[in-house]
Parts: sequence; C-alpha cells; structure tokens
Amino acid sequence: METLGDMISMESLGLEEAIERARILLEAVSRGEYCCLRFGLPYVTPSLLASQVFCEKKLEYSLLNESEDEKAKRVSEARKLVEVLLEARRHLPRQLDRFTLSFPVAAVVEGVPIIGRPHAVYFEDGHVAAIVLGKITMRPSKLYDSDRVKLYAYALTLAYAGFPLTSRTRLVLVAAKDNKKLIDALSSLDPGSARPFRGDGAAIHVLAHDVHVELETVSNLLAYWKGNRASTARQGPWCSSCPFRELCKN
Ligand code: SF4
Repeated sequence: METLGDMISMESLGLEEAIERARILLEAVSRGEYCCLRFGLPYVTPSLLASQVFCEKKLEYSLLNESEDEKAKRVSEARKLVEVLLEARRHLPRQLDRFTLSFPVAAVVEGVPIIGRPHAVYFEDGHVAAIVLGKITMRPSKLYDSDRVKLYAYALTLAYAGFPLTSRTRLVLVAAKDNKKLIDALSSLDPGSARPFRGDGAAIHVLAHDVHVELETVSNLLAYWKGNRASTARQGPWCSSCPFRELCKN
C-alpha cells in the first residue's frame, strides 16, 4: 500500500536555488496568480494553520467577516516579502560554515501555498541545522498543539522549497513570559546544539524534523483550505471570549 512517505516528492537544492524558488512563488502570489484557497485566500501562513488547532469554526467566521482591505493586504504582504528575501540573498555569507539567516520562506505544500518568516534559520555545513521560532506566553514551559503545528508547517515549507533539511534538523521554539526574557533566551541560544530547557520565565522546546510526522499533522489542516472537508468546531475555554458564540450552534 502506498504510504504518505512514498508520495512525498521533495528535492534538496543549494541555498541560492532554494531562495530563488521561494522568490518565484512569492512574486507569483504578489501578481495575483494564486487565489483559490477557501475565501479566495492566495496562501496560508504557519500562524493561520496554528490558529486552526483551537477552533476552525471561529477562524472561518472571522474570515467571512474580513474586509476587502484585509484581503488585499495578504497580496501586498507577499510583495514586501519579495524585497526582504532579495535583501537577504544579497547578504548571504559565502565563506562561513555556520551562519544564521532571518528571511521569508514560501513553498507549495500538498497543493497549498504556505508563506511565513521564521525568527531564524541556522545553517551548518551546507544544511539547515535548526529552525527557530520565538513566542511570548504566560506558560513558557508548555508546548501547545498549535506550537507543534507552527514548527511543523515551517519545516515543511523549507523542505518543499528545497532547503537542505536532514533528520538532524532541530525545530526550536523559544518561549518566554516577556520580551526581555525572550531576547535574552534567543541571544544565548546555540541553535545547532539546542537542548530542551525550562528556566525562570523562559523555556526551550526542541522537536526533531521528520517529514512524515509533519505531514500527518498538517495535511488534514491543509485539506480544509483546499475545500476537501468542512470546518470543525472545537469547544474549549476560548468559547467564553469568542465573538461568534451567538452564531455558533455547537
Ligand atoms: S463558540 Fe467556541 S466552538 Fe463556537 S466558534 Fe466560537 S470558539 Fe468555536
């Protein structure tokens, strides 16, 4: 029987080629060549996928109420990211074995364009050694399902764009209670050898890159955007502050 892994088709490229591939997709999105996900969205972001985890129905209600300006902003955001990507490419360190980049990533994953900008991507010996995200939260030591989805979505986006990820690539979330603690934790992080850590007001969570696990987690979320299934409502503590609870029949 054909497994999910058998169906994965990814090609690992050099750094410049992978950046070029991401640029081509960003430019196509900014020209309006992608339009046809649910609600006419041209692409999704890892944050949007993460918000699906709480309650997809709530997300659906908020997108139904989105203004034309907000819709247009998604396209103009892609245009801005092209400039950021080109700037990052101009400053690629060509001599170093180890370096960190902060740049936008874009790829079509399972038929859905995903665009995002991780806090940092750490390269070591020609491979992606770590993808790093930062977050301010009241509970830094807890890794939520939504955090996992976000890390997986970034890993898939980089992998599908052709960036050289390996089984040793770490997916790192640095969580802290406030901005100062987050900056301190990020600046003392050695991404290539990051280990899980729980400290005073900050924590580091580390996941392994495994494309099969990532796809198993994210594919069902992507299926919603392709119109392959209806939204699902998920009740929880968040319902008490949901602006759509009068509409919601769940
Ligand atoms: S009330 Fe709860 S279940 Fe209904 S849409 Fe809002 S968050 Fe989702």
